[in-house]
Amino acid sequence: MSKNIKNSCINEFDSTALNENKAIKLILKSITGKIGDEIIDIKNALGRVLYQNIKSHINIPSFKNSAMDGYAVNIKNLKKNNYSLNEIATSFAGKPYNKKLKNKETVKVMTGALIPDNADAVIMKEMTINKGKEIKFKENIKKNQNIRFVGEDIKKSSIVLKKGDTINYVNLSILSSIGIKKIEVFKKPVISFFSTGDELISINKKLTKGKIYDSNRYLLHGLLSGLPVIINDMGVAIDKESIIIKKLRECEKISNLIITTGGVSVGDADYIRDALNKIGRINFWKISIKPGRPLAYGKIGKSFFFGLPGNPVSAAVTFELFVMPAINKILGLKQKTKIIIKAKTVSEIRKKKGRVEYKRACLIQNKKGSFVKISGLQGSNILTSLSKANCYIRLASNVNVIKKDSVVDVIPFSEEI
Ligand code: AMP
Ligand code: MG
Repeated sequence: MSKNIKNSCINEFDSTALNENKAIKLILKSITGKIGDEIIDIKNALGRVLYQNIKSHINIPSFKNSAMDGYAVNIKNLKKNNYSLNEIATSFAGKPYNKKLKNKETVKVMTGALIPDNADAVIMKEMTINKGKEIKFKENIKKNQNIRFVGEDIKKSSIVLKKGDTINYVNLSILSSIGIKKIEVFKKPVISFFSTGDELISINKKLTKGKIYDSNRYLLHGLLSGLPVIINDMGVAIDKESIIIKKLRECEKISNLIITTGGVSVGDADYIRDALNKIGRINFWKISIKPGRPLAYGKIGKSFFFGLPGNPVSAAVTFELFVMPAINKILGLKQKTKIIIKAKTVSEIRKKKGRVEYKRACLIQNKKGSFVKISGLQGSNILTSLSKANCYIRLASNVNVIKKDSVVDVIPFSEEI
């Protein structure tokens, strides 16, 4: 097959390659339509995205209660310099004492127990001395101390969670605290993927000369596993246009999103773009970043499509940068902003001008500040330097030599290093 030289990926200053931010904007703009919703039990809702606003039908706390084990008092009943009261009852959490306090009376209260209506302070048990039912204390009492008020956490009729919020363990606790058992969430989109390449063999088989194990499907499986999506591993397609088309059509019937790896560049065995042009459409296929320049984005029927590069590191980087925002949009999630830290380089770094580069690196923070060091060879095939890294250094398009001790932008992989 002839490949158009104008479309070549060889030129570093490829003017037809889209810049990263433009590409993300285009992707997000193109993703419209709804995946729909379903009602699920909150027990199964961890990681799911809310399709509804959640309104509380009760106040939390729903009754005035004690924040301490101690004694509920009415400050008006305390005579100056004579802090002595009679314990007339006990109020337990779940077994309340409902009457009002009279002069010289106090009620022993447990944490979370209802306190008398006219009580306006709770004295910690540790601050009191009791002789039988006579309770003495010296403490200077402040009005409202150690009292939890009605609605101080959640007000009745207020919105506690919003459409687009992800259910985490705190939200599970909030939902149950207001008595909600079932919620409406976005349906799980189906994400299908397959690898392309004549060289790929399954990890169950013996490696023969010229072949490699297919690692990209495991990479994608790992990247998708924590997300509220249905993962559909469609295996491997050989480098043949008709076979790729057949697999894409199978995926298209059942998927919201299709991801392939490999075969997206300009080599003689790269058929993804031709296949897409025949059965769908390509919005763009080149981005001015490294690793990961050949990246096809398009649509087949109703399925959005990403053709990621075959090199594993490029596939990982482009997934994070471009596929993740697309999945967030499909899921109805707000887009997340990456944390960027400034750190000093411990050695000189070089890159070519004309593209943004993501270098795999290690961020170290100590008393002297934040420092960053390249984590190994930077070829797009070198997975071990990605495995050793805890961050990317993001280098702008217009720089080429970054001297030792320069301050650079670092994107940590997680909030802990
Ligand atoms: P391609 O994008 O198809 O030209 O592939 C670029 C490089 O990535 C080649 O060295 C391929 O052998 C390698 N590669 C492609 N697919 C995979 C895969 N699924 N697992 C590991 N390496 C791959
Ligand atoms: Mg290939």
